[in-house]
Amino acid sequence: MSPVGPRFALVSSRVVTPEGVGPQAVLVAGDQIEAVVPPHELPTDIDAIDYGDLVIMPGLVDSHVHINEPGRTEWEGFETATRAAASGGVTTLVDMPLNSSPVTTTPRSLQKKQEASAGKTWVDVGFWGGLVPGNLGELESLVGAGVCGVKAFLCDSGLDEFPSVDEAVLRQAMPILARLGTTLLVHAELPDSPSPGLEVKTSYRDYLASRPEKWETDAIELVLRLCEEFRCRVHVVHLASGDGLALIESAKRRGLPVTVETCPHYLYFAAERIPDADPRFKCAPPLREQLHGDLLWRGLLEGAIDLVATDHSPCQPERKHLDDGNLEAAWGGIASLGLALPIVWTRGRERNLDFSQLSKLLSSAPARLAGLADRKGTIAPGKDADLVVWDPDASWTVNASQLLFRHKITPYDGESLVGKVVRTYLRGHLIYDVGQLIGEPTGNLLRPHKIL
Ligand SMILES: [Zn+2]
Repeated sequence: MSPVGPRFALVSSRVVTPEGVGPQAVLVAGDQIEAVVPPHELPTDIDAIDYGDLVIMPGLVDSHVHINEPGRTEWEGFETATRAAASGGVTTLVDMPLNSSPVTTTPRSLQKKQEASAGKTWVDVGFWGGLVPGNLGELESLVGAGVCGVKAFLCDSGLDEFPSVDEAVLRQAMPILARLGTTLLVHAELPDSPSPGLEVKTSYRDYLASRPEKWETDAIELVLRLCEEFRCRVHVVHLASGDGLALIESAKRRGLPVTVETCPHYLYFAAERIPDADPRFKCAPPLREQLHGDLLWRGLLEGAIDLVATDHSPCQPERKHLDDGNLEAAWGGIASLGLALPIVWTRGRERNLDFSQLSKLLSSAPARLAGLADRKGTIAPGKDADLVVWDPDASWTVNASQLLFRHKITPYDGESLVGKVVRTYLRGHLIYDVGQLIGEPTGNLLRPHKIL
């Protein structure tokens, strides 16, 4: 039998596998990892690339990305988003059901999104569906069509065509989702009634006060209560609040099927140091005080927070109101696709985060969340040969103009980070090599196997 593709090995003194970190050779055959062996056991006829002390980890899985194509491709698109991903060692993206148009709330709209991505993706891409009032009847076919789970908002999503759900809708949807064995992702902010009604212009302090921590804890309390009642798997996206984390930890101790992510920006920035009139820092929930960042870091290190995803949610400069600094009018969303590895590492190394924890947070746990762990997220025989080679000691300064996503607007511009991606392999093929993309877009569309 002829081999399915090239056979070669990557060698390093620091290969991150489920068993730990150490000197290994990753033997690649075609698209997959054939074996992981001590370097001296490598067959002598194999082409081997020795990366010395550079770290070899599984390709990152970014499970929270807004690609916005079709319909709002001027905000971000498959080509630019997946280029940025590849440059950051990210080999799998899972796209959110908004802000594309149509939003991904029906099998037909999922198909439109899949068609729009054809031939444009540099990395593999999966899709979340959406839960909105009125699409309960579509959920089964949407899950059957291959979404990795469904997402709902408990507050205004910012898009009229993706309205929020209330407890009544959740009570109808969660038994369906539980029966289908899929996951409900929740944007957990539940506005007070009446809302604080603050007038926000350019003051960051006012913006922060307009979306208080209580919104998060109220929303988390609600979904945990329903999770307990319906035993529907729940994932809380972009946690920003320390008290919210305490609620989730308690629920986990009670055995509820709940997971939680936070984002690089909540781990890196603190409200005390955010300038006024700079909407690059606007996101929801807002960037909170250092106290919350410290609690989130504790949660990460202790394993209470399952994963980190970027929530890359960009838009055009004018929609971001960079000219007048209007925080009320500006689109909320922080662009950081492809930067998660150095951002989390820069702060994490100061807190003794190790490579195994880092890899779990950025690869294996998000793969598991999206039902892709049968192929993605770990270096082990039989898995896709998705690999990132990176230098954990290299310092560099972010220059937004050199980033590969569509609009070069990010609050990380000018930040000094530690950790630099050297090479990215997608299913055994080199797709990124220090500063440049290699070859053609060869990303696959993914559907979940099952939640492991
Ligand atoms: Zn998001």
